[in-house]
Amino acid sequence: MANTPYIIFTEWCNRRWLNNLGYKRFKLSGDVTLIQETGVANFMRCNIWHVKGREYDLVIDTGMGLDSLKAFMLNETKRPIKALVTHSHFDHSGCLHEFSVRMGHREESEILANPSNSQVVFDNAWTKIAIVDLQQHPDYSAQTYSIKPAPLTHYLDEGDVVDLGNRVFQVLHLPGHSPGSIGLFDSQNRTLFSGDAIYDGALLDSLYHSDKAIYAQTLERLEGLSVDVIHAGHYPSFGQQRLRQIIQQYRAGENTLIDVEQWFRDQQAQKADMFSDQDWSVFT
Ligand SMILES: [Zn+2]
Ligand SMILES: [Zn+2]
Repeated sequence: MANTPYIIFTEWCNRRWLNNLGYKRFKLSGDVTLIQETGVANFMRCNIWHVKGREYDLVIDTGMGLDSLKAFMLNETKRPIKALVTHSHFDHSGCLHEFSVRMGHREESEILANPSNSQVVFDNAWTKIAIVDLQQHPDYSAQTYSIKPAPLTHYLDEGDVVDLGNRVFQVLHLPGHSPGSIGLFDSQNRTLFSGDAIYDGALLDSLYHSDKAIYAQTLERLEGLSVDVIHAGHYPSFGQQRLRQIIQQYRAGENTLIDVEQWFRDQQAQKADMFSDQDWSVFT
């Protein structure tokens, strides 16, 4: 009992310290950790995946860049870190510039090297909806927000291999949401990191560089993949059955994001605290 105030104080310090870093970690399995930005609305914040390897660690996607992801990662691992973006959108590429090894698809290398807000899809409705917690980020403003240039150091394309020494990923080119969208497929563990090519939420196929016909082909390919776990670019992870349901719902026109501002109003109406953690209990 004598220790209780001390423990409470230590926990308070830890929480405050982690919040100050702007990220939270959720351990999913032995070598996969989910990292999320704490000051971004939960329906908007991307999943940042930390995959521990024998030779180096991989960071898949890098958030909006409101706080330093690299500073957070240096507390997470002592191994070298290689960063990879599944595509160039602002919610995935914000901290890419902080890492010395930057991997992604050639089709979006120009955007990442010279990221204008419209090219990283931070324009129109996205600048009007309140996706950032101003209590945590009082200096944030949609008028001044931008992504720092992060030229790719390594191009990845269909059939390339990302080898962590003890775990091998095959690169899948999954265009449609964006032209250079890629996924990482570990066939041995039947696990896919899918970026925004597929996630368990309203899918986006009408951005300036989206292509619905090509996206339909990507979804057909994903539908036939022998996979047990999909770690996606947003929302909780899911399995093969849910993957096929999501694709069927998309084909039926049930889960496509058409009007961003209306979607935002719907989210607001549903959730008391838009900046809370998501419910991952659905993923077991
Ligand atoms: Zn995207
Ligand atoms: Zn996204």
